[in-house]
This record gives sequence, C-alpha cells and structure tokens, in this order.
Amino acid sequence: MNKTHHLPDFLGPCPGISPIPAFSDNYIWLISKDGQALVVDPGQAAPVLQALKEQELTLTSILLTHHHADHVGGVAELVEQTGAKVWGPAGEVLPVCDTPLSEGDTFEDAQLQLKLSVFDIPGHTAGHIAFYGTFGSTPILFCGDTLFAAGCGRLFEGTPAQMDESLAKLANLPANSRVYCGHEYTLSNMRWACTVEPNNPALQHWQAHASEQRSLGQPSLPSSIELELACNPFLRARQPLVAQAAANWAQRELTSPVEVFAALREWKNNFR
Ligand code: ZN
Ligand code: FE
Repeated sequence: MNKTHHLPDFLGPCPGISPIPAFSDNYIWLISKDGQALVVDPGQAAPVLQALKEQELTLTSILLTHHHADHVGGVAELVEQTGAKVWGPAGEVLPVCDTPLSEGDTFEDAQLQLKLSVFDIPGHTAGHIAFYGTFGSTPILFCGDTLFAAGCGRLFEGTPAQMDESLAKLANLPANSRVYCGHEYTLSNMRWACTVEPNNPALQHWQAHASEQRSLGQPSLPSSIELELACNPFLRARQPLVAQAAANWAQRELTSPVEVFAALREWKNNFR
C-alpha cells in the first residue's frame, strides 16, 4: 500500500451507542445513559425489550427515519410495553408518531445528553429524515436507509437528483461524524465499490478492516463521513475516475454528476 496517501482513521464505537441486530441485517441503534434509553428504527420489538431487560434500561424515546416495516415494525408494541414517545418524519405514514419532524426541527434529551437536528433526505422514501447532532461531545448521524457504508439506499420513492442532493447534505457534515446506518451491507457494498474504483487505497484499507470486524462477528459500523467521502462511489460521482467508470459501465457519455449518480445506482442494482 502506498504510504504517501492519507488514509482515514476508523473511529470505532462510541461508548453508550450499540447496535441491536434485527431480522437478517438490520441494526436498531440503542443510545443509553444512566439507565435511560432511546432506540432508532426499531423494526422489531422483541430484541429491544430483551436488551432493555438485560441492561436494566428504561426506554423513553423512539426515533424513526422512514416508514419501511423493517424500521417501524416494533414501534407499536414498544410504546404499549414502555410508554416511550415517538418522533418521526412528518411526511410519512407511521404506526405511531407523537411528534412529526422535518428539516430544521430538533430533538433534545438533556438526561441522555443528546442534541439532534433533523434533515430532510428524500430518495429512498419520499419523506425520509436523518438525525445529526451530538451525544455528549461526539458528533453522530443516524441516516436510516439513505447513506450506507460504501453505498446508498435504493430509490423506491425518489429520483437520482433527489438522492444525490440528500447525500450531499450528509457529505457536508463534519468529517469526524460517526455514521450509524440502518443495515449491515458494508462488505457487499465494498465488493461493488472496488469494481468502480479498483485502485482506491482508502477503500482497500477500510475493506480489510471491515472484513476483519465481520469475521469477528462485530458490526462494521459506525462509519464516518471522512470514510464515506474517501470510499463511497455515490459520494464520489464528481471524481473523474468514478465518472469514467460509470460511463464505461453504461456504455454512453454521462454529461452531469446526476447522470453519473443515476448510472452508479443502476450499476449497483445489477451487481451480483
Ligand atoms: Zn428502507
Ligand atoms: Fe431498511
């Protein structure tokens, strides 16, 4: 490996934030402090209830990024069992939502030392939101199914232009922000990313690290904005080598970054 390249640091887990695995590859993120807890995108109730019991935590809040069942399926039962309050996207139909949120809104919990701002990031779904802010002094991002480590969500309810703009908002956040995605898709995203950019040393370095974490049964997440900027093809549509690779795959000239982005998404959809 060429040592003259700057390779992004792996930030590692943030104490107080841990994943609760759900279904085959979802993560429900659990934030806890002094016996109190919050979860993000509980697609299932049972694993959350079990974690609360094991760690002797009281669930007070539930944050939702978008309406898909694998992110909201456990909400009704958790509310019934714990009385937790629910915050979620204003533009989507949710099983329960006490406080609808959209861009510019904030979520604060003094006891958890959590201060989050809401961003509208349509594309995967029409009303998808992200939560960005600080836990204590650590910058953190919960981005649901919009930004994945070395990938992005499929465009179920949005256009490539919308998703490109949504990802650009997230890419502008501080480089040292920890990125908490909704799924463990990292290694398969990286296999594709290495096809797009076979000579990206930061990507190779991260892939080796993530492979080791997964082989030890650990999550590959959190990622960071710095890692995504260095490695994620969907944030790199404006890099000449990425644009060229997308044009080669599409077998046509791509005349704008959004066209490059759309071709990358199509490429990934077809990648096995
Ligand atoms: Zn989804
Ligand atoms: Fe999902």
